[in-house]
Amino acid sequence: MPSKFTKISDVGEFSLIHSLSQKFKNKNPSTIVGIGDDAAVIAKDTTHYTLMTTDMLIENIHFDLTYCPLKHLGYKAVVVNISDILAMNGTPEQITVSIAVSSKFSLEALQTLYEGIALACTHYQVDLIGGDTTAATQGLSIAVSAIGTVKKNSICKRSTAQPQELICVTGDLGAAYLGLQILNREKKVFLAHDTMQPVLEEHQYVIERQLKPEINTDLQKFMQKHQILPSAMIDISDGLSSELLHISQASRVGILLYEEKIPILLTTKKTALDLHLDPTICALHGGEDYELLFTLPQEAYEKIKIYPGVTVIGHTVSQSEGCHLITSASHQKIPLKAQGWVHY
Ligand code: ADP
Ligand code: MG
Repeated sequence: MPSKFTKISDVGEFSLIHSLSQKFKNKNPSTIVGIGDDAAVIAKDTTHYTLMTTDMLIENIHFDLTYCPLKHLGYKAVVVNISDILAMNGTPEQITVSIAVSSKFSLEALQTLYEGIALACTHYQVDLIGGDTTAATQGLSIAVSAIGTVKKNSICKRSTAQPQELICVTGDLGAAYLGLQILNREKKVFLAHDTMQPVLEEHQYVIERQLKPEINTDLQKFMQKHQILPSAMIDISDGLSSELLHISQASRVGILLYEEKIPILLTTKKTALDLHLDPTICALHGGEDYELLFTLPQEAYEKIKIYPGVTVIGHTVSQSEGCHLITSASHQKIPLKAQGWVHY
């Protein structure tokens, strides 16, 4: 007999969030944008908005302490939140950190975690202003919230792209996912033969992208200086494909993405081949790149092209044309799919 309960593994992340939150209507005029963007937008003063975002990292879902050093974990927990503030074109200013810790952790271990948090606070110039600490029956969970500000006339939402605009991405993609695959592979080898040393050197770049992601704060300065304003922006946490579909859905535009334009470094491609994985699939669905994905009016091309860290990977089309990838080899047009959510 079919169960009357729906398994959450049968529901995508976004349908889950939608079904839980759809009955909530904003009651306060100070809530400018609620659920649905990288950060919530709250009224601040006549010229600025406040931005607020939260991300949670759970042991053995988001990190594995057999190969993720606690210091790196602390750093990453801050970075992933700051990334969402930057994705709104904002300036991160404060964070709160809440931890649920089981008795397997010592004071020294948690101090190491906080060393990483402190490093990120220094690097990204944010203040730790609070949080919560509680016992847990097992493992470690970290929830970080970040608060920032953005000038009202520079905010970049997911929902304001137009058809026939350029789609741009910072940096390179796919590496963080491959870093994770390498770490998992070496862990399995180590568990089977604990005398074998892990082979990590040749995959240093992808491992670093997984364990110690950095985000691009430079682009914001460049764009301010050259008076470039993205029409929409999002950070890549779940994979290029899924983030493009968010922009598509929120802005009601279609997407044309060119496989040959997706920036994937040679070292990332080599690692992918080593693992018998397709580098494009890793970039589309791997996630955790924490690069910025944005749309720009075509007139801005002349200005953005001098910035070396940005690649134009496609353009928006009308919503009725849908969201597609044009493959490099056969110039086939295949529908873009979101496959980012694999926690269950
Ligand atoms: P991101 O990948 O940028 O961190 P998410 O995909 O986690 O964004 O979340 C998408 C939107 O849904 C955000 O506005 C977030 O605040 C909201 N959201 C996520 N989970 C919940 C929840 N359990 N309850 C209410 N809102 C949520
Ligand atoms: Mg985001």
